[in-house]
Amino acid sequence: MSVVDTLARLVAFPTVSNQPLVELAGYVAERCEAAGFRVERFVAPGEGKQNLVCSKGPRGTDGIVLSGHMDVVPVVGQPWTTDPFVLRQSGSRLVGRGTADMKGFIAATIEALTKLPTLERELVLVWTCDEEVGCLGSKDLVPKLADRPLPRLCVIGEPTSFRILRMHPGHTAVRIGCTGRAAHSSKPDLGDNAITKAARVIDRLELLAADWRRDVRFAELLERPFVVMNVATIQGGSAINIVPDRCVIDVGFRALPGMVVAELVEQMRARVGEWGAVELLRETPALLTEEGGELEGLLRPDASAPGTGAASFATDGGNFAALGMESLVFGPGSIDVAHMADEYVDGGELHRAVDVVTGIVSRRCGRG
Ligand SMILES: [Zn+2]
Repeated sequence: MSVVDTLARLVAFPTVSNQPLVELAGYVAERCEAAGFRVERFVAPGEGKQNLVCSKGPRGTDGIVLSGHMDVVPVVGQPWTTDPFVLRQSGSRLVGRGTADMKGFIAATIEALTKLPTLERELVLVWTCDEEVGCLGSKDLVPKLADRPLPRLCVIGEPTSFRILRMHPGHTAVRIGCTGRAAHSSKPDLGDNAITKAARVIDRLELLAADWRRDVRFAELLERPFVVMNVATIQGGSAINIVPDRCVIDVGFRALPGMVVAELVEQMRARVGEWGAVELLRETPALLTEEGGELEGLLRPDASAPGTGAASFATDGGNFAALGMESLVFGPGSIDVAHMADEYVDGGELHRAVDVVTGIVSRRCGRG
């Protein structure tokens, strides 16, 4: 099978994050087993959710981890030219949902498995679910791997056009509930309007966001070198003639490495004060890997640009840090076309990815 055929098979499983992905996981597991890998399956929360750990080579020998997520973002409402789950070739482009983010990397890795030398050190493949909805799969997986010896070095094959990215902000979701008292709208003085409270909350959040923007860090790596906040959704009220008693605002923010998320939430709580109740929904950790490490040296011959950079998006690497892993984000395809209609990976880049993966693993795990 060619890498393009493999990619076509992967794309054909419509593994949007709200859908089961056991079938795709089953296919990936089968291909890894066929290449002599041990496969460990980890059931994750939700229907048909699974993480896979596939390994080959002597256990506990500190080889390398290659990791990617098996889920993709939705296609609903996007102007796709053709069926997003049928791989289409258009010039040098291979078009389909997940081709860049990040089934291209999974396909290239599967294809590389048959080209590897005898492994003196362990190669571990970690394929996750529910990454696109807050790295939930890896979050569930990490404690289950606490007792398993794993290599220290980890490549997260997100689409970076083969640039080496060593840092990204995290992402935290917070819910703010504003509570009032319902009344007939003809007698608003008898009620307490939850939506007008929410308006005050949003004013205060904007002031906090402005303060956060002044706390500049990692300016050499980030386009927006501060904590970015987004007031994302708001829901409140039930009818035109009722004073609303409830309004809920969901807010996202992106903490930088080294920041304590609980402290940022506390700042939010202090700012919002009596107008709303602040509740932490979920947290995806930031990632920061030292410059000039062993893994960077390993990737350097295949890097498309000198130096290292930062990703604006969060990855599973933040969660993997809890296992003592040092991750770099590095893979085929461009993040600029990910999540969009007619997402694609360049065919040449995909073929090169097979050689890149083979080379990295051979250098790290082959006979030295
Ligand atoms: Zn991704």
